[in-house]
Amino acid sequence: MDRHALIEELVTANHILANENVLDSFGHVSIRNPDHPDRFFLSRARAPAIIEAADIMEFTLEGVSVGAEPGKPYSERFIHAGIYEARPEINAVVHNHSPSVIPFTVTSKKLRPLMHMCAPIGDDIPTWDIRTKFGDCTNLLVTDLAMGRDLAACLGDRTVTLMRGHGSTVAAPSLREVVFTSVYMELNADMQMKAMAMGDVDYLSEGEIAAIKRGRAGYTFERGWENWCNRVGRPYVPGSREFGEGFSRTDPRG
Ligand SMILES: [Zn+2]
Repeated sequence: MDRHALIEELVTANHILANENVLDSFGHVSIRNPDHPDRFFLSRARAPAIIEAADIMEFTLEGVSVGAEPGKPYSERFIHAGIYEARPEINAVVHNHSPSVIPFTVTSKKLRPLMHMCAPIGDDIPTWDIRTKFGDCTNLLVTDLAMGRDLAACLGDRTVTLMRGHGSTVAAPSLREVVFTSVYMELNADMQMKAMAMGDVDYLSEGEIAAIKRGRAGYTFERGWENWCNRVGRPYVPGSREFGEGFSRTDPRG
């Protein structure tokens, strides 16, 4: 693995997610270390838009820092640890307070995909409530491994879990995919609230969601990533094994 290149990609992901209204001063994105699957990379506690390569730290699946310690780690690194431990196929995780998603964490209205690009969020999105297992006196943050593991159990084999009164967490096999899904989840939530205000909403069907997920090629992620890199002035580096084998396929969306 080219560690330097991987860390630069993680910096880019931070800047993109901040620019696309998924992260603000808070929230974070991580990537599993391909050479040490029992470790992951995550920035020190800093606003994602201004994160640099020197901020990136490495953690074990217990959330313990190994290597350089440029500053205080995120207290919620256990979200990432818990998911990487439970899901060997997951290589990237975003925890966010994506603003349009929050209303769906505190009401009985279910977040559901209504536009084709948003299908990967799935139509079975659980809401993790920290109060269920950890009582009503927490500050709602996932600050230890027991909480991270409980969140991962709620997520199960899905892509997204909401977090009551807090935000959401997205898991995917690659960094590009987790960024893509996070960006379109925020857009879906915003569009869904507008559609619900207009009347009954005709959501994607289960069959449509499955077909879109099956047909989604690496090229689709690549196209979004290139555009989002351009928006934040980060270098676009096409292709690498991290992007998955679908990279060269034709984009079914044209
Ligand atoms: Zn949080």
